[in-house]
Amino acid sequence: MMPEGLPMAVPMENLPSRVRIHEVGARDGLQNEKTVVPTEVKAEFIHRLADAGLTTIEATSFVRPEWVPQLSDAERLFPLLSDLEGVALPVLVPNECGLERALAHGARGIAVFGSATETFARRNLNRSVDESLAMFEPVVARARADKIAVRGYLSMCFGDPWEGRVPVPQVVGVARRLMDLGCDELSLGDTIGVATPGHVRALLAALNEEGVPTSAIGVHFHDTYGQALANTLAALQHGVTVVDASAGGLGGCPYAKSATGNLATEDLVWMLDGLGIETGVDLGLLTATSVWLAGHLGRPSPSRTVSALSPNAVSPSTVSHKE
Ligand code: MG
Repeated sequence: MMPEGLPMAVPMENLPSRVRIHEVGARDGLQNEKTVVPTEVKAEFIHRLADAGLTTIEATSFVRPEWVPQLSDAERLFPLLSDLEGVALPVLVPNECGLERALAHGARGIAVFGSATETFARRNLNRSVDESLAMFEPVVARARADKIAVRGYLSMCFGDPWEGRVPVPQVVGVARRLMDLGCDELSLGDTIGVATPGHVRALLAALNEEGVPTSAIGVHFHDTYGQALANTLAALQHGVTVVDASAGGLGGCPYAKSATGNLATEDLVWMLDGLGIETGVDLGLLTATSVWLAGHLGRPSPSRTVSALSPNAVSPSTVSHKE
């Protein structure tokens, strides 16, 4: 239950008045959950997210179905979302084949998925950084020619589980090349959640120096070490207005053996509401959505805000049985 009048909205200086949340629960979240959610449940999830006020909802991924079985129903899911007008529904595409499939289903926004490190590029795409950028080049060019918005994800921006430290100039170098391909937006991924606020500010400043404006940058933090909101606040203080988050904190962290992965959208909205920053999101509706989905997943949401607002929401009796 929402506590009446809380959080109190008390603004801080030098923060944006509005933030656009890039909701990744249906893609990044469900991709990293063990349970495969039925297509109809995914469609209802995305509709409920839209009803809660989210305007950018990453819907699914047009990768080879055997790569990500959780999202292998992209072709069946996308048509179920055709009534969602005024909501951007970007999809992940790795290559031209994925782009063809996405375009055939009417996708109007895509994302490519780059890596700041060689090891993760190899593990995730089976290619070097150079080879993966070469793979994205025709995808981005074709999308731009079709006036499709392109987001470039950049993973391992703050640390890599195999390589350890990732120098800021290395991240900036790959980011610059992604932007030079023609991406409209760059999402800085803290894939294993190791960033801290000073590191965030240093990377943002270095990107600005390399000609990547803050207005083109989104941040994608993971809460593995409890730093996601602190890092978000540091990014907002730098002028960032696009923040990625996952409803209910969906998606564990596949590279850190932790239950806590993506920043939970509810935790983010609680902070932004408290700062008086507009998001257009109704926290009560969003929380109810995450509690509902947790029933389908059979595990409680890792979001602190969801559990505070809905204590004991997922008990054995509320867990729906899968057919
Ligand atoms: Mg993520």
